[in-house]
Amino acid sequence: MSQKIVIAGTGFAGVWAALSATRAIALASKEEAVEVIVVSPTPNLVIRPRLYEAVLENMDPDVGALLAAVGARHLPGLVETIDVDRRTIKVARVSGGHETIAYDRFILATGSQLFHPAVPGLKEYAFNTDQLETARDLDAHLKALASKPETSARNTVVIAGGGLTGLEAATEMPIRLRAALGADAQFRVILIDTADQPGGSMGVAPQPYFAEALTHAGVEVRSAVRVDAIDAGSVTLSSGEQIETNTVVWAAGVRASPLTEQIAGERDAFGRIVGDAFLHAPAAEGIFVTGDAVRAATDDIGNVAAMSCQHALSLGRVAGHNAAAELVGLPLHPYSQPKYVTCVDLGDWGALFTEGWDRQVQLTRDEAKAVKQEINRVWIYPPAPDRDAVFAVANPDYVIVP
Ligand SMILES: Cc1cc2nc3c(=O)[nH]c(=O)nc-3n(C[C@H](O)[C@H](O)[C@H](O)COP(=O)(O)OP(=O)(O)OC[C@H]3O[C@@H](n4cnc5c(N)ncnc54)[C@H](O)[C@@H]3O)c2cc1C
Repeated sequence: MSQKIVIAGTGFAGVWAALSATRAIALASKEEAVEVIVVSPTPNLVIRPRLYEAVLENMDPDVGALLAAVGARHLPGLVETIDVDRRTIKVARVSGGHETIAYDRFILATGSQLFHPAVPGLKEYAFNTDQLETARDLDAHLKALASKPETSARNTVVIAGGGLTGLEAATEMPIRLRAALGADAQFRVILIDTADQPGGSMGVAPQPYFAEALTHAGVEVRSAVRVDAIDAGSVTLSSGEQIETNTVVWAAGVRASPLTEQIAGERDAFGRIVGDAFLHAPAAEGIFVTGDAVRAATDDIGNVAAMSCQHALSLGRVAGHNAAAELVGLPLHPYSQPKYVTCVDLGDWGALFTEGWDRQVQLTRDEAKAVKQEINRVWIYPPAPDRDAVFAVANPDYVIVP
């Protein structure tokens, strides 16, 4: 092997970058000349969009056999540093020790993490559904509530953040609390949002549906307030209100992986590196940025990829293809993803499916729920480890939603 593509991350973007890169290498019959190495703690793809769900099973499918089937090598470890000038990365191996790896092309696909603003008590007392371990901590906590003395703090769950993640967590919570505390249990779920209305970022059309679903779930809403402090037994709001609770779920936004800070160049308010049309990090030769780590234009009328799995799947394919294309002499493929849909799970009420950046409502309730379950349980899962079948859908212009 004379050349190396190193990919950091086995999320949606990293896995699809590996599949797309190996496809391009195979198209050019350069398997012996270019190696693909994928670095992440374990060869698993965590299905983050499902981490609000009541049952946390099969949330991190193993992609080891898939990567092996296409000829990519997984290295268990964490990328600690990127030396852009020397074109090397330093990896802390899971098995111990460090390893420095030289790359010809590096793809940063390390995703995003929950943002922790300086709210007293947030790190110590709040739960979240951002990563599998933290979602499991919340799950264990909810299941243990039944063994605690019945108080108003025990029976109240506060969700902080009325974006899509917070809406999904809040409307699912009554289902989880009934399972934990009993079908007839009395409890409160309170959704706190700094905006005027939960889900406000989705525009006007979805609002009546969100309001209906929240009412259906019995979720109380506190709008235009922020959480000022959290402790083991309560949360204090900027309005002065104090709510007794043992369970605060923080869902107020994410930031791009801290590794983005090691790459020069313009970045946005979420810490994403502004990529060019081919997903290069423009100020760092040999580096591509993808998934939640890149800010990329989806079209030529001003829309930008959301930090979403829908975009990460395509961004991964394009970054992987282009990294390999530069080494094997294929044409580069510009990133473009004009079609945009949103499907928000809203608990027992159902779900809401919209199309377009103006979020035109297409399906609601049970019909949308069926689509959501298909997306969450089938579409976004990694494919079976069959090289030819995988390469048939690993091209950079493949779209799940036609
Ligand atoms: C609760 C929740 C609900 C969501 N709902 C939706 C939804 O309905 N629809 C939607 O489209 N999106 C949704 N999202 C967003 C979606 O999950 C993310 O946009 C998506 O996971 C981003 O993919 P990614 O591959 O860029 O990063 P990630 O999925 O975050 O993967 C990052 C990878 O990098 C690895 N990694 C991190 N640091 C390092 C390092 N230093 N070295 C090596 N590897 C590293 C991680 O282990 C992981 O393998 C949701 C997210 C959450 C948390």
